[in-house]
Amino acid sequence: MEKLNIVIFGAPGSGKGTQSEKLIEKYGLTHISTGDVLRKEIKNGSKLGKIAEEYISKGQLLPDELIVNILADTLDKCEIVKGVIFDGFPRTIPQAEALKKVLSERNMDISVVLGLEVEEKELIDRLLKRGAISGRSDDNIETINKRLEVYHSQTDPLREYYINEGKYKPITGDGTIDEIFEKIKKVIALL
Ligand code: ADP
Repeated sequence: MEKLNIVIFGAPGSGKGTQSEKLIEKYGLTHISTGDVLRKEIKNGSKLGKIAEEYISKGQLLPDELIVNILADTLDKCEIVKGVIFDGFPRTIPQAEALKKVLSERNMDISVVLGLEVEEKELIDRLLKRGAISGRSDDNIETINKRLEVYHSQTDPLREYYINEGKYKPITGDGTIDEIFEKIKKVIALL
């Protein structure tokens, strides 16, 4: 059977991580979250972790070349049975182009880009709440604002990119977690 390779796309706080978990459970996908990979490196105190922390704490993106190498490395290390979910990658047009190349070299392709579309006010609310619980150093109002600004300038243009590729499916990200997941399942059923 053909593999189900999903890019889950959306602003910080749009629910990518939450919906990814549900997708993994339902479809048996392998999760690749660049944010998780970087946070693990930070926790381990590795050289890469130290570099990552510099960018993450400022709400900035890591340089494309660095993150693309991390992504390719992670992809080669993981076992893929039914498909992959890319969470937090790509975040720039050059990253999307690199992903296309990395995948085609491995005889893989993106099946769909699920775009979680959530209003800005709701995003900020959710991120502040998450910060209070998770203690994530980048979930404070100053860094959140910076991340949203970076999202609008560098990541949002990817929507257009994937619309042109015929892969973008918008998912209205309001409602409960389960309601949003229902919409996602419908989109996947039609692929
Ligand atoms: P969010 O909850 O904001 O979507 P993530 O957990 O995906 O955040 O990522 C946290 C941080 O890690 C980002 O703000 C960024 O600094 C860094 N990062 C993660 N993925 C990428 C990427 N694809 N390119 C550059 N930087 C990244």
